[in-house]
Order: sequence, then C-alpha cells, then structure tokens
Amino acid sequence: MALSKGAAEAAEIVRNYDGPKIRVMEVCGTHTHEIFRLGIRQMLPESIELISGPGCPVCVTPVGYIDEAVMLALEKGVKIFTFGDLIRVPGTKKSLADAHSEGAEVQIVYSPMDALDYAKAHPEEEVCFLSVGFETTTPGSVIALRNAISEKVENFSLLTANKIMEPAYLALKGSADAFLYPGHVSTMTGMEVYRKIAKEWQISGVVTGFTTSEIVTALATVVRRVEEVRAGERESFAENCYPSVVTEEGSPAARKLVDKYMEPCDTEWRGLGIIPGSGMKLRDEFSKYDARVRFQLPKVQGKASPACRCGEVLRGLIRPMDCKIYGNACTPEHPVGACMVSSEGACSAYYKYGDTLKLK
Ligand code: SF4
Repeated sequence: MALSKGAAEAAEIVRNYDGPKIRVMEVCGTHTHEIFRLGIRQMLPESIELISGPGCPVCVTPVGYIDEAVMLALEKGVKIFTFGDLIRVPGTKKSLADAHSEGAEVQIVYSPMDALDYAKAHPEEEVCFLSVGFETTTPGSVIALRNAISEKVENFSLLTANKIMEPAYLALKGSADAFLYPGHVSTMTGMEVYRKIAKEWQISGVVTGFTTSEIVTALATVVRRVEEVRAGERESFAENCYPSVVTEEGSPAARKLVDKYMEPCDTEWRGLGIIPGSGMKLRDEFSKYDARVRFQLPKVQGKASPACRCGEVLRGLIRPMDCKIYGNACTPEHPVGACMVSSEGACSAYYKYGDTLKLK
C-alpha cells in the first residue's frame, strides 16, 4: 500500500530506530490484529517490541461472569442474548455454547436492541443481555435499558461486566514505555483522560487509528517522544494521532447518558484481578433490571483451567506461544482460554498470523 509522504517518513523513523529497546503495549485487540494483518510487525526493528495488552473485552471478562450467565441460562430459565465471541469462552465447568447444547436458550445478537425487541415480542419469557465491554459498548446497553424503562418492558435485564479503561492503565503502569491507546474507546473518553494520566501518573501513550499510515505514524511518535523522555526533556506524553475521529472532549453526551443509569464499581479483570473503580454497575434505582438482583444470583468465584496463562498474556508478561498449550491443546477450534476465542484476542492473533511471521 502506498503511504503518504508523512507516513513514509514515519515508517523510516520506525524502521531505522536502533536505540535502547522501546516496549509498546497495544491496549486494543483490534490494533493487535491489524498490526499483524497489515504486516507492520515485519518492518519493526528488534529495538521496538510490541506487547499485547488487555483491550479485548471478551478476554478480560472473568470466568465467574461466564458461570453466572450459564447459571441464568440453565438454572433460572432465562433466555440469554450475547455478542458472538462470548458464547465460546470457557467457564469453570462449561461455556454458554455447552449450555446451549444442553438445551439452554442462548442467542447471538449484534446489538442490545435486538434483545430488547425480542423481550417486547415475548413478554412471557425472561430475557437477559450480557452487557460486557468498554466505554464504546456501554452506551448501547444503557440505551436499551432506557428504552425498556420508558416502554415498560418488564422481562428485560442486563448482566453487567462493563469496564472503564482509565484504572486499568494505572494497574498496568510500568508494563511498557508507552501505550497505543484504543481508537474506538477514545472517541468516548476524548484525550482529556490521557493528558490527566500523563500528568498525574507519568503514564505515556499515543491514540491511533487502524490503517497502516495511522499506526506507523503513532509508532514513530512513540519513538520520538520516548527518546525525549529518556533525554530528560519531558516526563511523559499523551499524543493524538487519530485527530480525524478523536477529539479532546470525546463524547460528553454519551458519558452523561451512561452516568444516569450506571455508576463505577470495583470489578474483576481476567488476569489483572480486582481493579478498584474500573467497572460499571446499574444504579440502585434500576436494580430490577440487574440480572444478579432480579434472579438472586449467588456470588460466583470462577476458576480458569490451571494450564491457561491468559492472565499473563493480558498483562504483557508472556507471549501467547510461551503458554505450553498454545497451538496444541488450545486452538481457535478448541479454545481453553478467552484470548484464543475472541477475534480480538492476542492468542488468536498470534495463532492466525504468527506462523507467517515465523514468530518464535
Ligand atoms: S494459548 Fe490458550 S490457554 Fe494459553 S494463554 Fe492463550 S488462550 Fe490461554
């Protein structure tokens, strides 16, 4: 693909960098996949290391959440609506796909509104939408909830595992010299959050999009800024290499809408444990739409396969192929961990593209 003059210059900066190693964490699973797919890894010198981070919503959803969803489906007779990837994520004993094969009602949808439409058309059934994801997807769940309330739909609920990225950056501080911040999430948060964490916590990163030009421009920006940090010219940085889409303020309207129905809570991330204030739960006044309250779910402590090292992959501590069962017991056809299930997962990206790149 032909690059613009500016992107070609950026690519040269990246290709020719031969200073002390720079570690860059791709927060977003879509970046992980696009960097592989576009062949950007092949152009990187050894002095730039890319690490996959925790930005795949399915990957960071803990095992206990899958167990709760399975319990709703199998024991409480609730019809579950979910985005596709979640259905194959293993729970402690079974996945939602296993529950479905045992007779549970589980349906894949592309929007929470599809679940709400089903609930309206089938008032005799209990309908629950699995509300997972980051700042980008949470407003969709909230709009469905708002409509359910205004239209007096009584058989609709949410099982929430929505997450906020900002506390995760703090939890991951020190994992890399800079983050590649997620383009989609940044449309909601805006740049303000990154400027704040750069100033208060000296956490650095660059927001970028998903084309070759956008990604290499971001990597070149990381190289230049890290050199400045190392030279003592600045303490940290927050740069926007996706200005056509990401603004300073993000989407205050979407944040205000979410804030009306949800509030922050402590929540568990697969591999990262409980991160204070990193989750979103329904406010008490909407608890009748909260599946945990509505169906009186007990506290569930999920247990991942002892062989699975997704947690270390999500923290950038190991690469997928360092997991002993990568590519043998754990494949996209038979995933043992969430990172091999999701189309945004690091293990599935390495499995899909790694052989081509002769990654060892
Ligand atoms: S290869 Fe499979 S089991 Fe190992 S870390 Fe990746 S997803 Fe988990």
